[in-house]
Amino acid sequence: MSASAGDMMGDLPFGGGDGQPIRWPEGLRPSDGEVHFLWSFSFWGSIMEPATRWALRRGWGFCQRHGLLWLATSLAFLGWLGLHGPAIVYEDLMDRARLAFRGPKVLRPLRLRWALRDREPCLACRLGYGPHSPSRAPPRLLAQGRQMERVASFLAQTAPLWRRWICPRCAGRGTAVLCRRHLLLAITGGRADLDAQESYVRLLFRGVHRFSQSFRWERKGTDTVDDRACLVAAVGWCQGWDVLLSLGSHILPPQSGVDVDGAVP
Ligand SMILES: [Zn+2]
Ligand SMILES: [Zn+2]
Repeated sequence: MSASAGDMMGDLPFGGGDGQPIRWPEGLRPSDGEVHFLWSFSFWGSIMEPATRWALRRGWGFCQRHGLLWLATSLAFLGWLGLHGPAIVYEDLMDRARLAFRGPKVLRPLRLRWALRDREPCLACRLGYGPHSPSRAPPRLLAQGRQMERVASFLAQTAPLWRRWICPRCAGRGTAVLCRRHLLLAITGGRADLDAQESYVRLLFRGVHRFSQSFRWERKGTDTVDDRACLVAAVGWCQGWDVLLSLGSHILPPQSGVDVDGAVP
């Protein structure tokens, strides 16, 4: 079941056939400042610093844009191992989400509204990084961080699985599993099926946990494509799906049969 990291990164229909590199869509291309920030974030182990980890917890990870760019630059700089950091952070976030469902059911809506709220803006946004941020980093480093073949491969390989978990309200239809933001709105409106949402959150936690564990030497190769798809879905769950879907419709080949606009079947 489990494909190797090498399989995940090769043989995909991006920029291969005609030798053209795949390019970021307008508006999503990471700026020099963003690439430089995420490079230093990934390389200097910032997520192991308690202050950084708490900032990520209070903000439910990075915002949609920086969550996606973190995956992309981590893969661009470090290859498969680059996903270890995001896997650790999103495992932690989904664990906190899972625990928020515990306790007496009558108190659950109140507790979830408290536990799942945003308490802090995205760390990268707060530091001023955005689509036009400059940087004096060497051009070669910036060019490497902006390569998107690996993130495109990762998203495409896992798309048949994560597409089942796209929040239908982010995608504009349906009422199945919701992202955190739409879940909060549904709870406020008294319309949330909390048992179904809890099962979904637990499923994502278990998948990201297995994926995160697979970076340990003794667990190497134990993750499945489902587990990897759970990392993408956890990013979408924490902040919403709009940006992921916008990149998805740019990179996923029509012949893949993945209808990223179609949401949950
Ligand atoms: Zn941000
Ligand atoms: Zn949503």
